[in-house]
Amino acid sequence: MKGIIFSIEEFAIYDGPGIRANVFFKGCPLRCRWCHNPEGLSPKRQIARSPNGCINCGACRAACPSPEVCRSCGQCIPACPRGLIRYAGDEWEADALAARILKLSPILKNGGGVTFSGGEVLMQPEFLLEMLQKTASLHRAVETSGYGRTEDFCRMLEETELVYFDLKAMDSEAHRRFTGVDNTRILQHARLLMESDTPYIFRVPFIRDVNTGEENLYSMAEFLSKAKTPPKVEFLLYNKMAGAKYPLVGMDYPWQFEQPTEEDQNRARKILADFPISFRK
Ligand code: SF4
Ligand code: SF4
Repeated sequence: MKGIIFSIEEFAIYDGPGIRANVFFKGCPLRCRWCHNPEGLSPKRQIARSPNGCINCGACRAACPSPEVCRSCGQCIPACPRGLIRYAGDEWEADALAARILKLSPILKNGGGVTFSGGEVLMQPEFLLEMLQKTASLHRAVETSGYGRTEDFCRMLEETELVYFDLKAMDSEAHRRFTGVDNTRILQHARLLMESDTPYIFRVPFIRDVNTGEENLYSMAEFLSKAKTPPKVEFLLYNKMAGAKYPLVGMDYPWQFEQPTEEDQNRARKILADFPISFRK
C-alpha cells in the first residue's frame, strides 16, 4: 500500500532512544497555531517554493499550465534556474520505504530504531500499521496528537515499543481555539494509553498564555496522576521560528506567541512535583 511522506531523517537523535530513522507522515487534522511544519499539514503533495534567492525571472510562471490554481503538476520545478522549487511530499510504497529504513538496520539496531511522526500518523492508519509491521525487527516509536479513530489508535499501541503523545491544553474550548479541534477524543486516547502496557512519554508544547496557567497545569497533573505508573512528561518550549516555513508552501503565519519565562517553567515544575509524575524539560 502507498502512503505520503514529507521528510525522512536518517540519523536522528531526538525522538526515541539511540540513533533513529525518523519518517514524517504528511497530513494532519489539527491546525496548532505553533506548528512549525506547515508542509506536514495538507495530506496532498504540494509545491514548496523558497522565496529566498528568487530573481523574479518569471520562468516558473511561464512554465505553468494552471496559474490560477496550482495542480502540483511539477512543471515549474525544472524551469527555475535557481533550483528554488521542489515537491513537499512523496508517495512511497510501504515495501520500498521499509527497505530504505531496514537498510540502516546495522546502525539502528545498536540501541536506536525507527520513529514515525508527522503531520499525524493516524491520518494514514493502514499505511502506518503496515510500516510498523514491516519494521518490527527494530525498536519502533510513534509520535501522535492522539487524534484519530480509536480502533486505529489501539491497533497502533499493539505494534509499537514507545509512544510520544502530545498534550496541548486541558480545557476543551482552549484546545479547540488553539488547535482547531476539541480534546475529548484525545483525552480518551490518552487514558487508553495510560491503561495500556505500551511505554509512553507525554509531550507538552509549552507556550506562554496558551498552557502555562496554573489552572491548566493542575488539571494536567491531576489527569496524568491517574496513570497506572508515574508517567514521563517532557515540556518542549515554543519554537520562536515556528512561522519560518509557511511562505514556502504559500501560507501565512499570523500568530505571535512567546516562550514561557523562567517563572512559568518554575511554576510548572513546582505544580507537577506534587503529583506522581516524572517531569523533564
Ligand atoms: S506545480 Fe508549478 S507549474 Fe504546476 S500548476 Fe503548480 S505552480 Fe503551476
Ligand atoms: S523560476 Fe525560480 S527564480 Fe524565477 S521567478 Fe520562479 S522561483 Fe523565482
